[in-house]
Amino acid sequence: MEKKKIILTGDRPTGKLHIGHYVGSLKRRVELQNSGLYDKTFVFIADAQALTDNIDNPEKVRQNVIEVALDYLACGLDPMKSTIFIQSQIPELCELTFYYMDLVTVSRLQRNPTVKTEIQMRNFEASIPVGFFTYPISQAADITAFRATTVPVGEDQEPMIEQTREIVRRFNHIYGETLVEPEILLPDNAACLRLPGTDGKAKMSKSLGNCIYLSDTADEVEKKVKSMYTDPTHIKVSDPGKLEGNTVFTYLDAFCRPEHFERYLPDYPSLDELKAHYTRGGLGDMKVKKFLAAIMQEELTPIRERRKEFEKDIPAIYDMLRKGCEAARETAAATLDDVRCAMKINYFDDEALISEQARRFAEK
Ligand code: ATP
Ligand code: MG
Repeated sequence: MEKKKIILTGDRPTGKLHIGHYVGSLKRRVELQNSGLYDKTFVFIADAQALTDNIDNPEKVRQNVIEVALDYLACGLDPMKSTIFIQSQIPELCELTFYYMDLVTVSRLQRNPTVKTEIQMRNFEASIPVGFFTYPISQAADITAFRATTVPVGEDQEPMIEQTREIVRRFNHIYGETLVEPEILLPDNAACLRLPGTDGKAKMSKSLGNCIYLSDTADEVEKKVKSMYTDPTHIKVSDPGKLEGNTVFTYLDAFCRPEHFERYLPDYPSLDELKAHYTRGGLGDMKVKKFLAAIMQEELTPIRERRKEFEKDIPAIYDMLRKGCEAARETAAATLDDVRCAMKINYFDDEALISEQARRFAEK
């Protein structure tokens, strides 16, 4: 049988989704969902994972589940084509995590560079919740439960996918070919691998509050772009400017297409020319920011408008999520059956085991 092509990704409901999620993963998922090249697409809201570092703030997680679902629909994820579900509603994932924990060492988890950075960011050095520390294992359960072959994510997820691949290989080596090894699908555009925050920090992140949200109003987008971090040494318009670490240019790399020049900045034929002028000196930050703001509005306005439509019927979204959870649970349960069988903990549906033991004891 030919291996099915299955997509899986998720987001933590720790805030609304931002343009980093959009360029890092969300936009790609929608394209893949619509490409017709994949047998199934699973997208999930990782509330259980969000609780690992928000255990004292369940209300935040609860409120953001719907926000993330709205962002999904606004961006074009379609429940007719993708199974959209909530992680905590699939208890099979906990069971898989529990078994996978035996396949990973503490020192291996300690080496995970993303977890290391995240521990620092949250001041967890002195007291890391075990659940947070082990979340790469639970992520392996999420991915393998749905037999995902393709995981479209931003660069920060690379160590997680590698951890999953190791677990799969170890599991299959010990228990026989059971789990599917996933591949990471990173954005093609280098600027989208890890979009920086508007403050110039290395990563736009809900937890850092340096985000342009997909649901921001046009005014908010305008204000955020105008106050973005650029080159602090570029003071007068005539000063030469640096592109490296200049967030406005990184965003242009991520979002700008040739046709944007005709529409919003016809004096320049291309991004290369704009960059050359900035580096040479004589081009002010405000002009570049205005151009970026126009591009951002063009990209975000339709998303914002679609979101407004979906916001009118919240019960329908919960209904969609409930159906998604039911479908997802069926798939996860089938994988769990295979895992239990491979691990020899399927006592009650193994008739051969029972009859063989019955014979052995009778012969005693
Ligand atoms: P948190 O701060 O709660 O971890 P987050 O903003 O990092 O939130 P996640 O839910 O952890 O968001 O990530 C969801 C997906 O979005 C992942 O695939 C991740 O790689 C991608 N992603 C998140 N932030 C960025 C970014 N700044 N640039 C590119 N991709 C990103
Ligand atoms: Mg994150």
